[in-house]
Amino acid sequence: MRTILVINAGSSSLKFQLFDVESGAPRRAIRGQMDGIGVHPRLKATDGAGATLVDRAETAVLDLPSAVEATRAWFQTLGGARIDAIGHRVVHGGPDFDHPVLIDDAVLDRLDRLSPLAPLHQPNNLAPIRLAREINPDVPQVACFDTAFHRGHPAFADCYALPRALHDEGIRRYGFHGLSYEYIAHRLPEVAPKVAGGRVLAAHLGSGASMCAMRGGRGVECTMGFTALDGLPMGTRPGQLDPGVVLHLIEEKGMTAAEVTRLLYHEAGLKGLSGISNDVRVLLASDDPAAALALDHFAWRCGLHAGGLAAALGGLDAFVFTAGIGENSPAVRARVAERLAWLGAELDPDANAAGATVISTPASRVTLLVIPTDEELMIARHTLALIGTAA
Ligand code: ADP
Repeated sequence: MRTILVINAGSSSLKFQLFDVESGAPRRAIRGQMDGIGVHPRLKATDGAGATLVDRAETAVLDLPSAVEATRAWFQTLGGARIDAIGHRVVHGGPDFDHPVLIDDAVLDRLDRLSPLAPLHQPNNLAPIRLAREINPDVPQVACFDTAFHRGHPAFADCYALPRALHDEGIRRYGFHGLSYEYIAHRLPEVAPKVAGGRVLAAHLGSGASMCAMRGGRGVECTMGFTALDGLPMGTRPGQLDPGVVLHLIEEKGMTAAEVTRLLYHEAGLKGLSGISNDVRVLLASDDPAAALALDHFAWRCGLHAGGLAAALGGLDAFVFTAGIGENSPAVRARVAERLAWLGAELDPDANAAGATVISTPASRVTLLVIPTDEELMIARHTLALIGTAA
């Protein structure tokens, strides 16, 4: 049996999952995270059946390296499962990485040079890779990119109408949530074989939200562009915004780049618009008109973007809901489905309320689906494929 560790490192959390591999298929053995790094750090983990393995404050964890160290120390108390390979979620693969890659010095150097494209995420993704290389240089590591699934877009789709020199510097559309969309593309032939090869729109609706148009299981267009700020409104990000707003904030209101960054990443979206919460559950339970406005805006923008992506595909055969909101909220699914009615989508309210996989009526021209995503399993599979049988 082989063991693969999957790491998803952010600025305030370190998520990890351990997969045992038997007969070629990764099976989740541990799922955990160090949350609240530098504020109220807490280590939590459950086993494959969901039983708690650890749930404790880790007061000494002030930054990502100490989070890695504390997590490693806890791991060792489990009896020292040997780790055969580590797979990492890396937000940016730039214009060139169109598939996961085994990490060596040259790759790490190229990924470092992409940090200016995702300064809030890329350095955090790369830090545990470096640490693991120092601690145990013999364990192979694999980088899996959020951008890679979108690299098959036509060139005219991925450029902005800006001077060409800026494009050549890297200012262009990349798309994100690619590991989630790739997982959905892999699941589709199992759950909906009739439409899997057709024109499919997948909606990853979580704290971050985006939509991806796929044809034949390959990405064609995505609502996120240069950064993960674009497209749909999100928990705390505004989604598509007139760039003139940013100029106004800087020139007329005198906001600094750091203040605008904070506004756009942490204070906008459902949270900013409602003034209540970024959590859809809280907004659905509220009778405050501002909560209703935020939810109406969300559904409206989902409809507008779906229309644009359906145009990119020349029609629509299936629409997939996934991630925290998409998987768990029949109310939001119903609102979004209403906005797809003109494309021939017809929701089955009972199937939707029951959280069935297919939530459209048999007569619906668009198959509506709920498919829970699993980015970590996708990373484990990629890692396994790249280390081959050698490890
Ligand atoms: P991420 O992985 O990006 O943090 P998730 O995919 O876990 O995000 O989605 C988190 C969001 O899902 C929460 O902010 C919450 O609004 C939403 N969510 C989770 N469960 C429900 C539910 N039962 N009903 C509505 N929204 C939900």
